Amino acid sequence: MNRDFIYLEPLNSELARVRATFENRSIVLSSRGESTASSAASFYYAGSRPTSSIVSGGGNLIFMDLMHEVYRIRRNKSALIRLEDVNPTSDVDNLTEITNFLSEMNVPFTISLIPFYLHENRLIPLRENTNLVKVIKSATNHGGEIVLHGLTHQHTGETGVDSEFWNEMNSTPLEETGFVKSRIEIGLEELKATGLLNHNSGWETPHYKAGNGTYGLFEEEFDLIYEAPHWNYDLGFLPYPVIRRNSVYVPTNLGYYRGDLSSQQIEEKLTKAGLLQELQFGGVASFFYHPSLGLEKLRPLIDGLIEQGWKFASAKSVMKEFLAEKTSSTGGNYELQKFSRFK
Ligand SMILES: [Zn+2]
Repeated sequence: MNRDFIYLEPLNSELARVRATFENRSIVLSSRGESTASSAASFYYAGSRPTSSIVSGGGNLIFMDLMHEVYRIRRNKSALIRLEDVNPTSDVDNLTEITNFLSEMNVPFTISLIPFYLHENRLIPLRENTNLVKVIKSATNHGGEIVLHGLTHQHTGETGVDSEFWNEMNSTPLEETGFVKSRIEIGLEELKATGLLNHNSGWETPHYKAGNGTYGLFEEEFDLIYEAPHWNYDLGFLPYPVIRRNSVYVPTNLGYYRGDLSSQQIEEKLTKAGLLQELQFGGVASFFYHPSLGLEKLRPLIDGLIEQGWKFASAKSVMKEFLAEKTSSTGGNYELQKFSRFK
């Protein structure tokens, strides 16, 4: 966090409330009338520049949380899980075990689906793995939804390992419009051919890597983009959806579970989620998990988040909640009205 602080001590604690401290000194204060809003004068003081240095889990979160009060927004505390990189070579038993478990726990989830597996000369379309299609279809009837995760999730390498819209050899975007559009189109066609198109909620970019213009093409096609926004933002631990143009980006701020056996990762994620749980006005705790790792390591994460008070929600419902907040929030308009009187 930026150390360039100006501290303030309230002389009358009935008039000003300390909202955050740093090294035991008041750094954020507010004062607000008791009435419900429109006539109440309010005053907020932040003795730092909370957006000048945005770090994972930093003091900027307190500021963003408090902004909800200013704009009169309250969110749910939603946990999200996405089952990652499901493709025509995925193990059907693993996926079945995990989706059955989530359904039984009443935990909504998203399957990030790659419709074609490609590596060297081996090409398998989703429709050829009828057992997998059956499992995914059944999952979508029991709390699951899909996001399209590229067409092949590779450029020259193997599906799931390589990036699709980014050349890893020379770190440049693969952004020719026709190339990008046809990949989206063929991907959606394969979902249609397998009867899954109606369950598709949005898009997730392979490895979250594509050029700015390419993101524009994704945004043209999908209302929901299930990753943090990349362009002009650096909001790694962001616990909120963000809208860019007309697409809502839902972040995965807890990252993913890497494939080792240590329980340390579970603790780390739960510690982060616990920190986010302290946000007064809500937010999301969102992670993704590769179903090939099996159920054993997923269970404590789900249990832990539920124990902390999170309610699991689908990415689509988080998007809808966010859009509803956007239209119902009146704080911003109130400020505009107030200033217009001075003209
Ligand atoms: Zn992926």
